Amino acid sequence: MLIQAGRMIYALALLLVAILLNLSAQTTNISEPLVEKDVKENKAIIQYLGHSGWAIKTQNHILIFDYVGQNEESLSKVINPAEVNRKKVLVFVSHDHPDHYSSAIFNWSKSINDINYILGWKLEMGSRCLCLGPREKKSLDGLDIWTIKSTDEGVGFLVKVDGLVIFHGGDHACWGGSIDSFSGEIDYLVRVEDKIDIVFLALAAGNGQRSESITRGIFYAVEKLRPKVMFPMHAGGKEYLYKEFAQEAEKKNLKTKVCYCLNRGDELIYQNGEIKKGRSKMG
Ligand SMILES: [Zn+2]
Repeated sequence: MLIQAGRMIYALALLLVAILLNLSAQTTNISEPLVEKDVKENKAIIQYLGHSGWAIKTQNHILIFDYVGQNEESLSKVINPAEVNRKKVLVFVSHDHPDHYSSAIFNWSKSINDINYILGWKLEMGSRCLCLGPREKKSLDGLDIWTIKSTDEGVGFLVKVDGLVIFHGGDHACWGGSIDSFSGEIDYLVRVEDKIDIVFLALAAGNGQRSESITRGIFYAVEKLRPKVMFPMHAGGKEYLYKEFAQEAEKKNLKTKVCYCLNRGDELIYQNGEIKKGRSKMG
């Protein structure tokens, strides 16, 4: 009974975060799409879409992770429709909690021919959907995709695309207690791929609450995976926590550069292990 009540409160908290994210999506001006640029192999344009949402443009692909969209038009605010014809669009959703998933993403297929969805749980949505369980490997549209079992729900995705290796952890974090279920999946990833460019990891619970345990997990993952750059995410709208974490990380002299975005719509450019600031939609 107590556990059920606890779950109910957690679900309500997530719903609240999702509502706030949607509100911020509606009030924040992500008016310009990803800039039209020639993206070469080994290069990516990374755009922060709030909470755990990211759009990553590579040479031949546009990847979107855990986007909580508010309506049908939302994609055209993220992606320049003119480039969609030349690139394959892949929409990744780690799990179906409302702060990671909105069914509005499926409306995008009305205007984009070459779009596919990779989901970390089973959902009957037709041939455009690839549903993956933990520790699966699939190749699709020139991508290699591996999944891990998240310590929360669903999966995390490791993606090899256009000369880059990207890991989006979804809700995989060391939420508390033993680190084993978290570290075991990170160790698995090390065996899958030892040269990782970019990782995205949850820094806080969905309500923006940080904990020593989550931070310990992140440092474990960064030290094991040794990505060139790491982005903290999942702060429930408290983006200042990303900067705070980057400052903590700097003191550790990590080989990995910890980067962060403070505003929904901020854009960064990754190339040869370096990050350059792109445009900010917030000015
Ligand atoms: Zn979450």
